[in-house]
Amino acid sequence: MSEGGPRVVIVGGGLAGLAAACGVADRGYSVALVERRPSLGGRAWSFSHPQGQGEVDNGQHVFLKCCTYYIRFLQKLDVWDKTHMQKRLRVPVVDSHRGVSSLESSPLPAPFHLLPSFLRFRHLSPLDKARAAYAMLSIRFTDRTKSDELDSISFYRWLREHGQSEAAIDRFWNLIVLATLNDDVRMVSADLALMVFQEGFLKRADGANVGYATVGLTSLIGREARRYIEERGGRVILGQATQELLLEGERIAGARLADGSILRGQWYVCAVPHQVLLAVIPPGLRGDPFFRRASELATTPIINIHLWYDRPVMALDFAAFINSEAQWVFNKSKMWHLAGDGQYLDISLSGARQYIDLPKEELVERFARELRRLFPKARQARLERWLVMKERQATFAAAPGSGGYRLPCRTPIDNLFLAGDWTATGWPATMESAVRSGVACAEGIARLASRPEQRGGDQQRLETTTEGSERSNLRLSSIGGKA
Ligand SMILES: Cc1cc2nc3c(=O)[nH]c(=O)nc-3n(C[C@H](O)[C@H](O)[C@H](O)COP(=O)(O)OP(=O)(O)OC[C@H]3O[C@@H](n4cnc5c(N)ncnc54)[C@H](O)[C@@H]3O)c2cc1C
Repeated sequence: MSEGGPRVVIVGGGLAGLAAACGVADRGYSVALVERRPSLGGRAWSFSHPQGQGEVDNGQHVFLKCCTYYIRFLQKLDVWDKTHMQKRLRVPVVDSHRGVSSLESSPLPAPFHLLPSFLRFRHLSPLDKARAAYAMLSIRFTDRTKSDELDSISFYRWLREHGQSEAAIDRFWNLIVLATLNDDVRMVSADLALMVFQEGFLKRADGANVGYATVGLTSLIGREARRYIEERGGRVILGQATQELLLEGERIAGARLADGSILRGQWYVCAVPHQVLLAVIPPGLRGDPFFRRASELATTPIINIHLWYDRPVMALDFAAFINSEAQWVFNKSKMWHLAGDGQYLDISLSGARQYIDLPKEELVERFARELRRLFPKARQARLERWLVMKERQATFAAAPGSGGYRLPCRTPIDNLFLAGDWTATGWPATMESAVRSGVACAEGIARLASRPEQRGGDQQRLETTTEGSERSNLRLSSIGGKA
């Protein structure tokens, strides 16, 4: 382990913890990362198919070109060549009645780049198109920082107030919202939805170009991040839950691991999901309103139905579906350049509350039937294998009001930072949000660690006021005692 800088302990080896670990390792700090599971990557992970079908992701993960932190993270890990990024946006939208119509970029500058394909988009009436263009312009010119109301209302309400019909909501707005916010327009906050359209579609013409891995997620992220950290002298401890962070006086003094050992550092990053946060922080902090807010966040499920056919049934790389339960279907054989006569498809169901408790067999039967309806070639094809991955707590629910429950990376405890897609990055629950939070922690630690009192090894409390501590009732001097 490198000796130069302070020692940083990171709890949680998902993208947020990994980005934080790589960020502090880059600065020459010694880092120890503890992950509960036997592999790294958190919710972005893959495994070997039990019957030899190769690597399988827990769920399809795509990213957009506006996800600049995630892209830089992949470049840092030197795995960018294991991804594919569209040169220009093209999303085929399939309707069994009206056929295929794509949303795609033209050479026009933003925000007009989508206009030609939008005019040709056959799933909306001319009036709905004109109204959608008006709503897009309203989004373009909304300053979200000046409106507190946006986080308290649903995007559905915002759309209705901006003249959008039910048909336009179902056939256009919800396609994008379901995939990016993991929920229906009726369930998500207007603020986060506006953010997605501003960042992805309105700022730059290439912002929504779609990217995806051409290998399994663990090969792309988990394995390579481990190599990166270890090459810089860091330590990765797998298969060990952190039972509890220990408070001594006003600082975190250690992380007690499942085997009873205590890992001590100077700085701590807690990069666990929001549902787990209260169980990991010291008992004395669990009642504090600052930390308790995170437990108000709800979660939304995602289901991926992996289907292996004996022959090709879908020609496109991926497509969104309207008037169908299928939502989005990914042609993994094409995306991963898989050899063989068969075809591997992944049906990705976001906001999947109505399906999450159905038996897996029933889901397969229902969606294989749907694919037979959508793709004539599926009617002759034999479904050779299937696998259903249910992620009950796939992401935090981007519900109205959720903005108020997302915590900043700095906490009222000077040497404790928080990372995770659910923290206050301003982004929805995405890989981009997770990486941004980790990078923010690494930068925050570097900033504080470079102060003279820290460089001199003086562990006294830093007197800075943070966004977090303003909202906390904690009087640090009164917490006292050993955890
Ligand atoms: C099926 C699915 C599909 C998705 N699709 C997309 C997509 O297309 N695009 C996109 O951008 N995002 C997508 N996401 C979201 C994305 O995966 C997450 O936003 C991101 O991976 C979250 O990273 P994280 O580090 O914040 O959290 P996590 O990945 O949850 O990492 C937290 C880690 O902490 C560990 N941990 C928990 N408790 C402890 C403990 N006590 N001690 C030690 N370790 C602990 C966990 O095991 C985990 O590894 C998808 C998610 C799912 C589930």
